[in-house]
Amino acid sequence: CGIVGIIGKAEVAPLLLDGLKRLEYRGYDSAGIATLIEGRIERRRAEGKLGNLAARLAAAPLPGVIGIAHTRWATHGRPNETNAHPHATARVALVHNGIIENFQELRDELSKAGRKFETETDTEAVAHLLTHYLDQGLDPEAAMAKMMPRLHGAFSLAILIADRPDIMIGARRGSPLAVGYGDGEMYLGSDAMALAPYTDRICYLHEDDWVIVSRDAATIYNNGKRVNREVKKTALSG
Ligand code: GLU
Repeated sequence: CGIVGIIGKAEVAPLLLDGLKRLEYRGYDSAGIATLIEGRIERRRAEGKLGNLAARLAAAPLPGVIGIAHTRWATHGRPNETNAHPHATARVALVHNGIIENFQELRDELSKAGRKFETETDTEAVAHLLTHYLDQGLDPEAAMAKMMPRLHGAFSLAILIADRPDIMIGARRGSPLAVGYGDGEMYLGSDAMALAPYTDRICYLHEDDWVIVSRDAATIYNNGKRVNREVKKTALSG
């Protein structure tokens, strides 16, 4: 139900947790964080309140200077730890707000191609689909361009790729997602509120946009073409 992503310079897990707290007002049943550590995806997830996730992080800290975080309001699959986001394959970690209407069809297709599913969620199909395209040798831009038309329904997504610690990816359709511009750090968030402590320079993605975010730039695409979107100064502050 809430998304935060940070690509930065300092350890991101504490900042991501703080961002999730600012999205608590939306309601949720579970939460989780993933970061990249030396080319590996690492996750901590917990059912229930953010305090449970904070306790997991205290017991087993999550280093990493790039990460994504999620509060979940379950639509497909019980609200438990296994179904909590981020969902991950060997290469891709991903958080999702919304519903992927054609997830069963994608799941069947990817299962036939040998992909093993671990959760009851609609979201996991997206992680496997993107992995499938990357494994075919497509770069992240080409893989996203191929994936977007295959997803039906409403979504905002924040994505990490294990062997690309220099970028995170965002996408949206029917559900909001904002890019926050920092100083050598960049952010993704469900709304400006989640990013208020970090930046007041915000760009709301348009319908069907997706974005490759590096530490100092955001390159936005729509329907295979690069597009420019306005960066606005928000009145919110931390
Ligand atoms: N449909 C997804 C799930 O059930 C995402 C729900 C959400 O927006 O939090 O896991």
